[in-house]
Amino acid sequence: MRVLVINSGSSSLKYQVRDTTTDEIQASGLIERIGEGGGGPANHGVAMDQVAAGLEGILAQKPLDAVGHRVVHGGERFSEPVLINNEITRSIERLNPLAPLHNPANVLGIRAITAKWPALPQVAVFDTAFHRTLPEYAWRYAVPDSLYRQYGIRRYGFHGTSHEFVMGRAAELLGIPVPDFNAVVAHLGNGVSLTAVRGGASVDTSMGFTPLEGLVMGTRSGDLDPSILIFLQRQGLSADEIDTLLNRDSGLKALAGNNDMRAIVEAAEAGDAHARLALDITSYRLAKYIGGYHVAVGGAQALVFTAGIGENSAAFRALVVDRLGALGLKLDAVANLERSGSPRVVSTPESAFPVLVVPTDEERAIAEATAAVVLGTEQR
Ligand code: AMP
Repeated sequence: MRVLVINSGSSSLKYQVRDTTTDEIQASGLIERIGEGGGGPANHGVAMDQVAAGLEGILAQKPLDAVGHRVVHGGERFSEPVLINNEITRSIERLNPLAPLHNPANVLGIRAITAKWPALPQVAVFDTAFHRTLPEYAWRYAVPDSLYRQYGIRRYGFHGTSHEFVMGRAAELLGIPVPDFNAVVAHLGNGVSLTAVRGGASVDTSMGFTPLEGLVMGTRSGDLDPSILIFLQRQGLSADEIDTLLNRDSGLKALAGNNDMRAIVEAAEAGDAHARLALDITSYRLAKYIGGYHVAVGGAQALVFTAGIGENSAAFRALVVDRLGALGLKLDAVANLERSGSPRVVSTPESAFPVLVVPTDEERAIAEATAAVVLGTEQR
């Protein structure tokens, strides 16, 4: 199948055309500054016109079979990818308050495609869906039930498409059937989240009501005492200012002055104390979470690293695994340094369980899920 994968942000639109049979990427691109003036397209509809114009050549040879959308928030309703119709689009729209930066853009992307190619099947693939198997004791906050009933305040989790894809590849590499697979998956990119996988299903994950909870990230604080927010509000900061502070101006950026892991590792090696401390805080907190998730899955059969930092930073992987001696993990120094685009083991045979590096590919996962939904629907 020829699938157009759309990842639509508030002011950007990333796309890929993929052949799901050969796994070939036939076209890809990024459109930026949507609705920001300065030569950028006026809205998502105009951006989609630009995508279509760019694809004219390849679509003349063979048309698209389907479109797959990355949708950030599926709320409690969506636990699987779904074929989009008007009612589904409205349901996604109703989730806008839960993901105000992301879902409105996803809806605009869907509507732009509907307007352009009304007959083309579209599938929504949700970032939250893989975490719909979290037990209630993992997703509940210890707050009055009315907050859940009135506002949907609970833990949802994100990066699900990546965690599920990486978990599946890891199980395959180790020759363990997915329903028997227990693992801790660390998605370490600009956004960072950890997932506890038990029997192939997500049973806990570090992001919560929003992608701010959990680990230290590129520009996000991760966990902190919620009283800090109340304190700052009493100091006169507005909700928007606190939002920016914790989502955009915190994390590695606040600790080390930038959010590029390469630069931080180099600075730390050159003796920069801020960079050193940033690496210590980040790796320490991640190691504590990994220990907790080892317990949550009833003993992991693998620790899996993925995404920008997880796949590429041998130095950061070493910092984390060095703190996991209590779990009996032992990194293979040579294997850890090898650069490769393939799933691989980076621990020694003496390690209590293997440490893996598995490249993520959310676009591929979305394209495959889209093809499966469309083919499944046609067969019914
Ligand atoms: P992602 O969000 O998955 O694209 O990951 C972005 C993060 O990956 C940034 O913090 C980058 O600094 C980091 N990253 C990308 N390539 C490398 C590399 N070769 N070494 C260390 N960090 C890297």
